[in-house]
Amino acid sequence: MAPASTPTEPGLPTEVVWQSRPFPNSNFLLLRGQRPSLVDTGFVAHSEQTAALAGEQSSRIDVVVNTHWHSDHVGANALFQSAGAEIAGSTVEARAIHRHDAGCCAAEYLDQPVPEYAVDRVLADGDRELLGDSEWEILTIPGHTPGHIALWNAEHRLAAVGDSVTAYDVGWVSIMNQGTRALDPAIASLRRLHDLGAKVLLPGHGPLVTAPEPAINKAISRLERQRENIDLAVDYGAKRILAFALMIHNGIVRTELESYLGQRAWVTDSAATVGRDVDDFIRNLLDSMLASGAITLREGTVYAVAESTPVDLRVFDLPYPRNWE
Ligand SMILES: [Zn+2]
Repeated sequence: MAPASTPTEPGLPTEVVWQSRPFPNSNFLLLRGQRPSLVDTGFVAHSEQTAALAGEQSSRIDVVVNTHWHSDHVGANALFQSAGAEIAGSTVEARAIHRHDAGCCAAEYLDQPVPEYAVDRVLADGDRELLGDSEWEILTIPGHTPGHIALWNAEHRLAAVGDSVTAYDVGWVSIMNQGTRALDPAIASLRRLHDLGAKVLLPGHGPLVTAPEPAINKAISRLERQRENIDLAVDYGAKRILAFALMIHNGIVRTELESYLGQRAWVTDSAATVGRDVDDFIRNLLDSMLASGAITLREGTVYAVAESTPVDLRVFDLPYPRNWE
Protein backbone atom coordinates (compact mmCIF):
# COMPACT_ATOMS: atom_id res chain seq x y z
CA MET A 1 0.00 0.00 0.00
CA ALA A 2 1.06 3.56 -0.66
CA PRO A 3 2.05 5.55 2.42
CA ALA A 4 -0.49 7.98 3.84
CA SER A 5 -0.56 11.44 2.39
CA THR A 6 1.65 13.82 4.36
CA PRO A 7 0.72 17.38 3.49
CA THR A 8 2.94 18.77 6.20
CA GLU A 9 6.17 16.97 5.28
CA PRO A 10 8.94 18.71 7.26
CA GLY A 11 10.65 21.37 5.21
CA LEU A 12 7.73 21.85 2.83
CA PRO A 13 5.25 24.72 2.89
CA THR A 14 1.67 23.58 3.52
CA GLU A 15 0.63 24.40 -0.06
CA VAL A 16 2.96 21.63 -1.29
CA VAL A 17 1.35 18.20 -0.98
CA TRP A 18 3.86 15.45 -1.53
CA GLN A 19 3.55 11.70 -1.51
CA SER A 20 6.14 9.18 -2.62
CA ARG A 21 4.55 6.41 -4.70
CA PRO A 22 5.96 3.04 -5.76
CA PHE A 23 6.65 2.26 -9.43
CA PRO A 24 5.24 2.39 -12.01
CA ASN A 25 3.88 5.70 -10.73
CA SER A 26 5.81 8.89 -10.41
CA ASN A 27 5.51 10.64 -7.06
CA PHE A 28 2.41 12.65 -6.24
CA LEU A 29 2.96 16.40 -6.12
CA LEU A 30 0.04 18.79 -5.78
CA LEU A 31 0.31 22.55 -5.27
CA ARG A 32 -2.74 23.83 -3.44
CA GLY A 33 -4.11 27.34 -3.57
CA GLN A 34 -5.52 29.85 -6.06
CA ARG A 35 -4.44 27.77 -9.02
CA PRO A 36 -4.48 24.12 -7.91
CA SER A 37 -1.77 22.37 -9.90
CA LEU A 38 -0.60 18.82 -10.26
CA VAL A 39 2.97 18.05 -11.27
CA ASP A 40 2.95 14.81 -13.30
CA THR A 41 0.10 12.30 -13.23
CA GLY A 42 1.55 8.80 -12.78
CA PHE A 43 0.99 5.69 -14.89
CA VAL A 44 -2.21 5.14 -16.89
CA ALA A 45 -3.27 1.98 -15.03
CA HIS A 46 -3.54 3.98 -11.80
CA SER A 47 -5.25 7.10 -13.18
CA GLU A 48 -8.29 6.73 -10.93
CA GLN A 49 -6.07 6.36 -7.86
CA THR A 50 -4.17 9.52 -8.86
CA ALA A 51 -7.44 11.41 -9.35
CA ALA A 52 -8.63 10.21 -5.93
CA LEU A 53 -5.41 11.44 -4.27
CA ALA A 54 -5.83 14.81 -5.97
CA GLY A 55 -9.51 14.94 -4.97
CA GLU A 56 -8.59 14.49 -1.30
CA GLN A 57 -6.48 17.66 -1.46
CA SER A 58 -8.27 19.96 -3.85
CA SER A 59 -11.80 20.24 -5.25
CA ARG A 60 -10.35 20.94 -8.70
CA ILE A 61 -7.12 20.82 -10.67
CA ASP A 62 -6.60 23.82 -12.95
CA VAL A 63 -3.36 22.73 -14.55
CA VAL A 64 -1.20 19.65 -14.89
CA VAL A 65 2.48 20.39 -15.48
CA ASN A 66 4.55 17.55 -16.91
CA THR A 67 8.24 17.47 -16.03
CA HIS A 68 8.63 15.13 -19.03
CA TRP A 69 6.51 12.83 -21.13
CA HIS A 70 7.47 9.35 -19.96
CA SER A 71 4.55 6.99 -19.36
CA ASP A 72 4.92 7.06 -15.58
CA HIS A 73 4.51 10.87 -15.54
CA VAL A 74 1.72 11.53 -18.07
CA GLY A 75 -0.53 8.48 -17.70
CA ALA A 76 -3.49 10.30 -16.14
CA ASN A 77 -3.14 13.46 -18.26
CA ALA A 78 -6.11 12.34 -20.37
CA LEU A 79 -8.30 11.86 -17.31
CA PHE A 80 -7.45 15.28 -15.82
CA GLN A 81 -7.79 16.94 -19.22
CA SER A 82 -11.27 15.47 -19.69
CA ALA A 83 -12.16 16.89 -16.25
CA GLY A 84 -11.15 20.38 -17.39
CA ALA A 85 -7.48 20.73 -16.43
CA GLU A 86 -5.05 22.37 -18.81
CA ILE A 87 -2.02 20.26 -19.68
CA ALA A 88 1.26 22.18 -19.66
CA GLY A 89 4.46 20.81 -21.14
CA SER A 90 7.77 21.95 -22.57
CA THR A 91 8.08 23.46 -26.04
CA VAL A 92 9.94 20.42 -27.38
CA GLU A 93 7.27 18.02 -26.18
CA ALA A 94 4.32 20.23 -27.13
CA ARG A 95 5.45 20.36 -30.77
CA ALA A 96 5.93 16.60 -31.02
CA ILE A 97 2.66 15.82 -29.24
CA HIS A 98 0.84 18.19 -31.57
CA ARG A 99 2.23 16.28 -34.59
CA HIS A 100 1.63 12.85 -32.99
CA ASP A 101 5.24 11.99 -33.73
CA ALA A 102 6.14 8.32 -33.44
CA GLY A 103 8.72 9.27 -30.80
CA CYS A 104 6.19 10.89 -28.44
CA CYS A 105 6.55 9.82 -24.83
CA ALA A 106 9.04 7.19 -26.07
CA ALA A 107 5.85 5.10 -25.77
CA GLU A 108 6.49 2.95 -28.81
CA TYR A 109 10.27 2.86 -28.41
CA LEU A 110 10.01 1.62 -24.82
CA ASP A 111 6.68 -0.23 -25.20
CA GLN A 112 5.03 1.83 -22.47
CA PRO A 113 1.32 2.70 -22.93
CA VAL A 114 0.19 6.34 -22.76
CA PRO A 115 -3.41 7.49 -23.40
CA GLU A 116 -3.79 10.33 -25.88
CA TYR A 117 -3.55 13.88 -24.57
CA ALA A 118 -2.87 17.34 -25.97
CA VAL A 119 -0.58 20.05 -24.61
CA ASP A 120 -2.67 23.20 -24.05
CA ARG A 121 -0.01 25.36 -22.50
CA VAL A 122 3.56 25.52 -23.78
CA LEU A 123 6.29 26.24 -21.24
CA ALA A 124 9.62 27.80 -22.23
CA ASP A 125 12.77 28.33 -20.22
CA GLY A 126 12.40 31.27 -17.84
CA ASP A 127 8.60 31.32 -17.94
CA ARG A 128 7.01 32.02 -14.58
CA GLU A 129 3.81 30.26 -13.64
CA LEU A 130 1.52 30.67 -10.70
CA LEU A 131 1.13 27.10 -9.41
CA GLY A 132 -0.82 26.70 -6.20
CA ASP A 133 -0.15 29.96 -4.38
CA SER A 134 3.44 30.57 -5.51
CA GLU A 135 5.39 31.55 -8.54
CA TRP A 136 7.47 28.75 -10.05
CA GLU A 137 10.05 29.31 -12.78
CA ILE A 138 10.37 26.88 -15.66
CA LEU A 139 13.90 25.58 -16.25
CA THR A 140 14.64 23.47 -19.31
CA ILE A 141 16.93 20.64 -18.23
CA PRO A 142 17.47 18.35 -21.26
CA GLY A 143 19.10 15.01 -20.48
CA HIS A 144 16.85 12.18 -19.29
CA THR A 145 14.59 13.36 -22.14
CA PRO A 146 15.26 16.22 -24.58
CA GLY A 147 12.17 18.14 -23.39
CA HIS A 148 12.64 17.67 -19.65
CA ILE A 149 11.87 20.65 -17.40
CA ALA A 150 12.26 21.47 -13.72
CA LEU A 151 10.11 23.85 -11.67
CA TRP A 152 11.92 26.26 -9.38
CA ASN A 153 10.32 28.04 -6.46
CA ALA A 154 12.84 30.71 -5.43
CA GLU A 155 10.80 31.86 -2.43
CA HIS A 156 10.85 28.45 -0.73
CA ARG A 157 14.04 27.25 -2.48
CA LEU A 158 12.29 24.15 -3.79
CA ALA A 159 12.82 22.45 -7.12
CA ALA A 160 10.61 19.79 -8.69
CA VAL A 161 13.13 17.90 -10.79
CA GLY A 162 11.26 14.97 -12.41
CA ASP A 163 13.63 12.13 -13.25
CA SER A 164 16.80 14.20 -13.69
CA VAL A 165 18.06 13.29 -10.21
CA THR A 166 16.69 11.40 -7.21
CA ALA A 167 17.97 10.80 -3.69
CA TYR A 168 19.84 7.69 -4.83
CA ASP A 169 19.99 7.76 -8.61
CA VAL A 170 20.35 9.77 -11.78
CA GLY A 171 17.92 9.62 -14.70
CA TRP A 172 19.10 7.30 -17.48
CA VAL A 173 19.95 9.02 -20.73
CA SER A 174 18.99 7.57 -24.12
CA ILE A 175 22.53 6.62 -25.16
CA MET A 176 21.18 3.76 -27.28
CA ASN A 177 19.75 6.12 -29.86
CA GLN A 178 21.70 9.32 -29.22
CA GLY A 179 25.20 8.15 -28.25
CA THR A 180 27.27 9.39 -25.31
CA ARG A 181 27.07 12.97 -26.62
CA ALA A 182 23.57 13.01 -25.09
CA LEU A 183 25.31 13.04 -21.70
CA ASP A 184 26.74 16.54 -22.22
CA PRO A 185 23.41 18.39 -21.91
CA ALA A 186 22.39 16.03 -19.09
CA ILE A 187 25.50 16.97 -17.10
CA ALA A 188 25.05 20.67 -17.89
CA SER A 189 21.44 20.44 -16.69
CA LEU A 190 22.52 18.89 -13.38
CA ARG A 191 25.10 21.67 -12.91
CA ARG A 192 22.32 24.17 -13.46
CA LEU A 193 20.21 22.47 -10.79
CA HIS A 194 23.23 22.41 -8.49
CA ASP A 195 23.75 26.15 -8.86
CA LEU A 196 20.20 26.93 -7.77
CA GLY A 197 21.20 26.19 -4.19
CA ALA A 198 17.90 24.45 -3.52
CA LYS A 199 16.99 23.49 0.04
CA VAL A 200 14.88 20.50 -1.01
CA LEU A 201 14.41 18.67 -4.30
CA LEU A 202 11.07 17.06 -5.14
CA PRO A 203 12.07 14.14 -7.39
CA GLY A 204 9.81 12.05 -9.64
CA HIS A 205 10.65 8.85 -7.74
CA GLY A 206 11.84 7.93 -4.26
CA PRO A 207 12.09 10.12 -1.17
CA LEU A 208 12.48 13.89 -0.94
CA VAL A 209 16.06 15.00 -1.49
CA THR A 210 16.81 16.97 1.65
CA ALA A 211 20.53 17.32 0.91
CA PRO A 212 20.49 18.42 -2.74
CA GLU A 213 24.15 19.30 -3.14
CA PRO A 214 25.68 15.84 -2.48
CA ALA A 215 22.86 14.10 -4.38
CA ILE A 216 23.42 16.27 -7.45
CA ASN A 217 27.21 15.95 -7.23
CA LYS A 218 26.89 12.17 -7.08
CA ALA A 219 24.52 12.20 -10.06
CA ILE A 220 27.01 14.30 -12.05
CA SER A 221 29.84 11.86 -11.23
CA ARG A 222 27.73 8.93 -12.36
CA LEU A 223 27.05 10.57 -15.72
CA GLU A 224 30.70 11.55 -16.09
CA ARG A 225 31.69 7.91 -15.57
CA GLN A 226 29.13 6.87 -18.18
CA ARG A 227 30.58 9.41 -20.61
CA GLU A 228 33.95 7.64 -20.27
CA ASN A 229 32.46 4.19 -20.80
CA ILE A 230 29.71 3.64 -23.35
CA ASP A 231 29.10 0.03 -22.22
CA LEU A 232 28.40 1.29 -18.71
CA ALA A 233 26.09 4.03 -20.05
CA VAL A 234 24.04 1.64 -22.20
CA ASP A 235 23.89 -0.98 -19.45
CA TYR A 236 22.64 1.63 -16.95
CA GLY A 237 19.66 2.58 -19.12
CA ALA A 238 18.86 -0.96 -20.23
CA LYS A 239 18.63 -2.21 -16.64
CA ARG A 240 16.20 0.52 -15.67
CA ILE A 241 14.04 0.09 -18.78
CA LEU A 242 13.88 -3.68 -18.34
CA ALA A 243 12.95 -3.43 -14.65
CA PHE A 244 10.17 -1.00 -15.56
CA ALA A 245 8.93 -3.31 -18.37
CA LEU A 246 8.73 -6.22 -15.92
CA MET A 247 6.75 -4.06 -13.49
CA ILE A 248 4.16 -2.86 -16.00
CA HIS A 249 3.66 -6.40 -17.33
CA ASN A 250 3.36 -7.83 -13.78
CA GLY A 251 6.37 -10.00 -14.68
CA ILE A 252 7.13 -11.70 -18.00
CA VAL A 253 7.19 -15.49 -18.51
CA ARG A 254 10.82 -16.62 -18.66
CA THR A 255 10.40 -18.56 -21.92
CA GLU A 256 8.87 -15.49 -23.62
CA LEU A 257 11.28 -12.90 -22.31
CA GLU A 258 14.03 -13.20 -24.96
CA SER A 259 11.46 -12.99 -27.72
CA TYR A 260 9.77 -9.96 -26.07
CA LEU A 261 13.10 -8.18 -25.67
CA GLY A 262 14.31 -9.13 -29.16
CA GLN A 263 11.40 -7.15 -30.62
CA ARG A 264 12.10 -3.96 -28.69
CA ALA A 265 13.77 -1.08 -30.51
CA TRP A 266 15.56 0.01 -27.31
CA VAL A 267 17.16 -3.43 -27.09
CA THR A 268 18.33 -3.68 -30.70
CA ASP A 269 19.66 -0.11 -30.50
CA SER A 270 21.44 -0.87 -27.22
CA ALA A 271 23.08 -3.98 -28.67
CA ALA A 272 24.16 -2.10 -31.80
CA THR A 273 25.56 0.80 -29.75
CA VAL A 274 27.88 -1.51 -27.81
CA GLY A 275 28.63 -3.65 -30.89
CA ARG A 276 27.06 -6.86 -29.60
CA ASP A 277 24.78 -9.46 -31.07
CA VAL A 278 21.18 -8.91 -29.82
CA ASP A 279 20.83 -12.40 -28.27
CA ASP A 280 24.17 -12.00 -26.57
CA PHE A 281 23.19 -8.55 -25.25
CA ILE A 282 19.90 -9.90 -23.85
CA ARG A 283 21.57 -12.92 -22.20
CA ASN A 284 24.12 -10.66 -20.60
CA LEU A 285 21.50 -8.19 -19.36
CA LEU A 286 19.36 -10.93 -17.80
CA ASP A 287 22.32 -12.73 -16.25
CA SER A 288 23.71 -9.61 -14.64
CA MET A 289 20.31 -8.48 -13.29
CA LEU A 290 19.52 -11.95 -11.92
CA ALA A 291 22.97 -12.07 -10.33
CA SER A 292 22.62 -8.63 -8.71
CA GLY A 293 19.13 -9.45 -7.42
CA ALA A 294 17.44 -6.60 -9.33
CA ILE A 295 15.21 -9.16 -11.05
CA THR A 296 14.16 -12.62 -9.91
CA LEU A 297 12.79 -15.83 -11.44
CA ARG A 298 9.76 -17.23 -9.60
CA GLU A 299 7.71 -20.18 -10.90
CA GLY A 300 8.73 -19.58 -14.49
CA THR A 301 8.16 -15.81 -14.49
CA VAL A 302 10.75 -13.05 -14.24
CA TYR A 303 9.88 -10.13 -11.95
CA ALA A 304 11.52 -6.87 -10.96
CA VAL A 305 12.37 -6.92 -7.27
CA ALA A 306 11.68 -3.24 -6.46
CA GLU A 307 8.24 -2.53 -5.01
CA SER A 308 5.58 -1.82 -7.63
CA THR A 309 1.81 -1.58 -7.94
CA PRO A 310 0.18 -4.25 -10.19
CA VAL A 311 -1.09 -3.13 -13.58
CA ASP A 312 -4.31 -3.98 -15.46
CA LEU A 313 -2.79 -5.37 -18.68
CA ARG A 314 -5.62 -3.99 -20.81
CA VAL A 315 -3.62 -0.73 -20.89
CA PHE A 316 -1.48 -2.42 -23.56
CA ASP A 317 -4.44 -2.11 -25.96
CA LEU A 318 -3.89 1.67 -26.11
CA PRO A 319 -2.62 2.90 -29.49
CA TYR A 320 0.87 4.32 -29.78
CA PRO A 321 1.06 8.12 -30.31
CA ARG A 322 1.57 7.82 -34.10
CA ASN A 323 -1.96 6.35 -34.20
CA TRP A 324 -3.56 8.91 -31.92
CA GLU A 325 -6.62 10.53 -33.51
ZN1 LIG B 1 11.37 9.37 -17.00
